[in-house]
Amino acid sequence: MTNSAALVVFSGGQDSTTCLFWAKKHFGQVTAIAYNYGQRHVVELTAAKQIAETAGVPLHIFPLDLLSGVSHNALTDQDMDVESDQPDNRPPNTLVEGRNMLFLTYAAIFAKANGIHNLVTGVGQSDYSGYPDCRNDFILSLNQTLNLSMDFDYHIHTPLMWLDKSEIWQMADELGVFDLVRNQTITCYHGISGEGCGNCPSCKLRNRGLKNYLKSKENGRIE
Ligand code: ZN
Repeated sequence: MTNSAALVVFSGGQDSTTCLFWAKKHFGQVTAIAYNYGQRHVVELTAAKQIAETAGVPLHIFPLDLLSGVSHNALTDQDMDVESDQPDNRPPNTLVEGRNMLFLTYAAIFAKANGIHNLVTGVGQSDYSGYPDCRNDFILSLNQTLNLSMDFDYHIHTPLMWLDKSEIWQMADELGVFDLVRNQTITCYHGISGEGCGNCPSCKLRNRGLKNYLKSKENGRIE
């Protein structure tokens, strides 16, 4: 894959930052794309800019305000509280319907305009938290649709698809960016960087994975 180009769908969070450095390892030329879609914390985009700069990767940020207008969710709606858990089987209220499809579709359009065939996204279904557009079936289906819709040979890479959070920490460590991911990324639903608020579902997932990873490393199971 070396010497080819890739476009990373980037948000400044743990997963997409790990993917950014994964892409740097596997592709000769890496570009990142991020969106301002009315998410609560524009501070995420500030983190994204800083991380991209550190990585030496050009970052293009596009407005996608429409996403917060057409439906309601706790990530874009200031009046809605982030639920800590769901009483039934419905997805969490932080789900932004259609987000990954739109992100990848706009990324694909941008990629084609720049002659880039490889798209990289940090979605995964191991820690599946009820987001249907994080699933592998969806990615395979969209890949085919994008190829057909633009008559262009895309390859969507999902290096985190089958990894749990602990394994994603391990990947960051192996890529030599453990501290950067730990300190500079924002995953918290309240927009607090690093360890975050510690209480929202995203922080709980991230911090549990980190704890497990550090424990297994200490026990010598992971070198
Ligand atoms: Zn949090």
